[in-house]
Amino acid sequence: MTRVEKEQGMSETSQTAQQEAGVEAPVLYEVRDGVAVVTLNRPAVSNAQNDYLVYELDRAFHRAANDDAVVSILLCGAGKHFSAGHDLGTAGKFDGLDTIERKTLWYDSTDKPGAERLYAREQEIYLGLCRRWQEMPKPVVCAVQGACIAGGLMLAWVCDIIVASDDAFFQDNVVGFGIPGVEYFAHPYEMPTRIAREFLMLGDRMPAQRAYEVGMVNRVVPREQLFDAAFEIARKLATKPRFALALTKQALNIVEDLRGKRTANDTVYAMHHLTHAHNFAVHGTSIIRPDFLDKKK
Ligand code: ZN
Repeated sequence: MTRVEKEQGMSETSQTAQQEAGVEAPVLYEVRDGVAVVTLNRPAVSNAQNDYLVYELDRAFHRAANDDAVVSILLCGAGKHFSAGHDLGTAGKFDGLDTIERKTLWYDSTDKPGAERLYAREQEIYLGLCRRWQEMPKPVVCAVQGACIAGGLMLAWVCDIIVASDDAFFQDNVVGFGIPGVEYFAHPYEMPTRIAREFLMLGDRMPAQRAYEVGMVNRVVPREQLFDAAFEIARKLATKPRFALALTKQALNIVEDLRGKRTANDTVYAMHHLTHAHNFAVHGTSIIRPDFLDKKK
């Protein structure tokens, strides 16, 4: 493996292990008309995010960022749903964080005790990677269909332009799991604060049209037109000067940070982990299931 390949993603050991396990590539990558099309490819589990998918997504973004033939990126999801969030069911099977080359300077979380393990893990794979992706100097269009739940929101939110199909819905239901929002707390930067309160506290589905009305998505199109509509925007972006796009993206990221986004991210990340630790201390698990909550309060 060359240095560049090594920098681009998972360690060879980890990739080989996945291939031997017969795991289909969780992220697909192709370049068309100056656009890197990056596709989440775990449709059987609604593109739920395990570690393998997250690092393959990072590898795809890294590849797109480094390729001079790529000016813009389209992120989409195969199948009925964009992403059902973090993979709570099968994540453990692919938990190779001790062998994967991490992308932040957070140390290996897998052998750490108590709250340190999850705190370090999520700094790397959720908060750290989301920030890294948002700072990628090429514009990203996100095409969302079906479910975009919790961890799915994080992927959509770090993109620059969101196109939703008319059957899409957005939801962060983790308050029901005893947690004050997903690890990347950007809700009040993606929608008005009043709406964010409702979105988080009730945890209900926000239909695409409502998401458009509150300014969280840029366009709503019929389901069958989603890919073409999103690709057309990405293709149009790919005709613009690369450096101007990069600086425009940086400028808008700076404005969000001046509005306190980074500080809010960090502060609520700590609260998120207070509840993980609390849930573990009280219920023996870092997230509580709503049915469990009903019984125990
Ligand atoms: Zn968490």
